[in-house]
Amino acid sequence: MIDPFGRHITYLRVSVTDRCDFRCVYCMAEDMTFLPKAEVLTLEELDRLCTAFVSLGVRKLRITGGEPLVRKNVMQLFENLGRHLRTGVLDELTLTTNGSQLARYAKDLARVGVRRINVSLDTLDLDKFREITRWGDLTKVLGGIEAARDAGLAIKINVVALKGVNEDELDDMVRWCGERGCDMTLIETMPLGDITGDRTDQYLPLSIARARLERHWTLQDSDHRTGGPARYVRVAETGRHLGFITPLTHNFCESCNRVRLTCTGTLYMCLGQEDAADLRAPLREDPTDASVLEAIHEAISRKPKGHDFIIDRRSKRPALARHMSVTGG
Ligand code: SAM
Ligand code: SF4
Repeated sequence: MIDPFGRHITYLRVSVTDRCDFRCVYCMAEDMTFLPKAEVLTLEELDRLCTAFVSLGVRKLRITGGEPLVRKNVMQLFENLGRHLRTGVLDELTLTTNGSQLARYAKDLARVGVRRINVSLDTLDLDKFREITRWGDLTKVLGGIEAARDAGLAIKINVVALKGVNEDELDDMVRWCGERGCDMTLIETMPLGDITGDRTDQYLPLSIARARLERHWTLQDSDHRTGGPARYVRVAETGRHLGFITPLTHNFCESCNRVRLTCTGTLYMCLGQEDAADLRAPLREDPTDASVLEAIHEAISRKPKGHDFIIDRRSKRPALARHMSVTGG
C-alpha cells in the first residue's frame, strides 16, 4: 500500500476496545460513555481485518485501546494473529498497555510471539499515579512490568510530560528505566477529546523537558528507529534510548507509515484528521473480503499529508472531538 505522498503503509494500530480500567486525566473524562457492545467488532472480525491488512503489506501490528488487556478473551486475538509471525508475513505483533493486567498476561503474550511492549507510566509516585490515572494502582502496574521482564519481553515506558505534575520526576524516570533496561519515550499531550479540566495547564513542550534532562544526562544523537513517530537519543550514562514524540512542536508526518483502526472498524488515515473510512459494513456484507480490500485501498488513496494540532488558548477546545482511547494512542 503506497499513499499519494509515496509513503509505504506498513504499520497498523488497532484499538480493540474503547473501554479502560483507568481514567487518565489527559485522556478521558471520569464519566465516559462507552460504545454499545453491538457496535464493537468481534474478535473474529478484528482478526479478519488485521489479516486483510497483513495481506496488503502491513508488517507491524500494534494492539491498543482503551486498555487492550481488559477486552474479554483478548488473548485469543493475540494467539490467532501470532500465526502471521510464524509464517513470516508479519515482522512484529506488539501492544500498548497501561500495565494493570500484565501480571496475568505477560507469559501468554511472550508465548504467542510478542517480543516488546509499550507500557504507559507517567510517575513513580503512588499518590501522583492515583491523581493522574484516577482509578489506577501503581503497585499493580509495577508488578506487571516485573512480570513482563521475567517473561523476557522488552519494555518501552511511555511517559506523557505533564506540566506541574511529573516534570520534576523526569530525571528519576530516566534513571529508573536505565536500571531496568527499559527504553523510555516522552510524549507531549495532544488535544484529543473533551476531558475534565484545562489542557493548556498540562502542556509541557518537550524542548523544555529535553533541555532540563541535558543538565544531568548526556544525550547522544541516535539513528535508532522503531517504526513509530518518536525521534531517539541514547542516554550515555544508562545506555538506553530516550524517545521524544512531539506532535505539537515538531511535525512528524512526512515519514508516517501508519493507519489506525478503531474497535468499530473505522479506519483513520491520520491521528489528527477527521477523515475516516468505514470497514465494518464491507466486512459484514461480503464474506469474501473482496469489498473490504477494496475499501482499504480506497482509504489509503486519500491518506492526508499531515495534521496541524494546536492547543487553542482562547477557546480551550480540543483540536479533535474524538478521544485518544477511540483511535488508539
Ligand atoms: N491504555 C493503554 C495505555 O495507556 O497505554 C493504551 C491506549 S492509550 C490511549 C495510548 C497512549 O496514549 C498512552 O501512552 C497514553 O499516555 C497516551 N495518551 C492518551 N491521551 C493522550 C493525549 N491527549 N495526549 C498525549 N498522549 C495521550
Ligand atoms: Fe486508559 Fe490508556 Fe487512556 Fe489512561 S491513557 S485512560 S490507561 S486508555
